[in-house]
Amino acid sequence: MSILSAPHFHDEAAAFAKVESVLWPQGPVCPHCGCMGRIGAIKPNAEKRVRMGLKKCGDCKKQFTVRMGTIFEESKLPLHIWLQAIHLMCSSKKGVSAHQLHRTLEITYKSAWFLAHRIREAMRSDDLSPFGQNGGVVEADETFIGRKPGMEKRVGYEHKFKVLSLVDRSTGRARSMVVDTITAPEIVPLVRANIAREAHLMTDEARHYVRVGREFAAHSFVRHARDEYVRYETPLVTTNTIEGFFSIFKRGMRGVYQHCSEKHLHRYMAEFDFRYSNRVALGVDDSGRAERALKGVVGKRLSYRNPNSQIPNP
Ligand SMILES: [Zn+2]
Repeated sequence: MSILSAPHFHDEAAAFAKVESVLWPQGPVCPHCGCMGRIGAIKPNAEKRVRMGLKKCGDCKKQFTVRMGTIFEESKLPLHIWLQAIHLMCSSKKGVSAHQLHRTLEITYKSAWFLAHRIREAMRSDDLSPFGQNGGVVEADETFIGRKPGMEKRVGYEHKFKVLSLVDRSTGRARSMVVDTITAPEIVPLVRANIAREAHLMTDEARHYVRVGREFAAHSFVRHARDEYVRYETPLVTTNTIEGFFSIFKRGMRGVYQHCSEKHLHRYMAEFDFRYSNRVALGVDDSGRAERALKGVVGKRLSYRNPNSQIPNP
């Protein structure tokens, strides 16, 4: 049976049951008072306008559904459509465009655009703990992408957006940040804040890593200028892991998300970080990845005050 035939992708009651099982593994929690006991379900009834999944708290007497306090709250889209969108975005290695979601889910482009950004928010990791805490290798490198508005295309990368990424080889996780310049004053504090001192830092020969590299248990670097990508004597010395991450990121950004403003770039990076950090090689399949994204929907409501001014032209 195809994974897309799972009931929670088609049936609203099944979708609620799925989301409730993931967000409330120990049973319903009242978002108003936080209590877990004496919560009653109110039967859905379209005529009396009783919503699907409605619960009533016996303590504070208030009503709620599992959508409350999540990215689903301010949306009128049925939950099973949300679950379809989450599955598509989690299972496509290079992402899914808002246009594709608009066509596949048969929702408006505007809805698709909002939905995709909210799902990216759900994918954003709250874990700020440093990489390399077990003394493992952490690769750090920068990449350039897109073109800043109003800037001419030319040689070099001044006109492009700049991204610093880290990949922890032991946990397999990736973390990316938008930076204004590729200089020591900007890169060094980020390296310090995001990599544990006991880590083995792995970079290319860029000057901004030289000094800060001494603060870590070890620092190795490949000399790309001399065409060195993997050190012959010690194959551990390479930044090919992060280069691989960049290649997925760039192919996705170029192919699927052709236009991306600087304002939203960090959201796209969170999406690529998420899929990479929860990839098949780490034992996470498509359904597992979708479930992890679903766990992230709590407390990340995005409200766009004036949506019309923020949507790019289709
Ligand atoms: Zn309550």
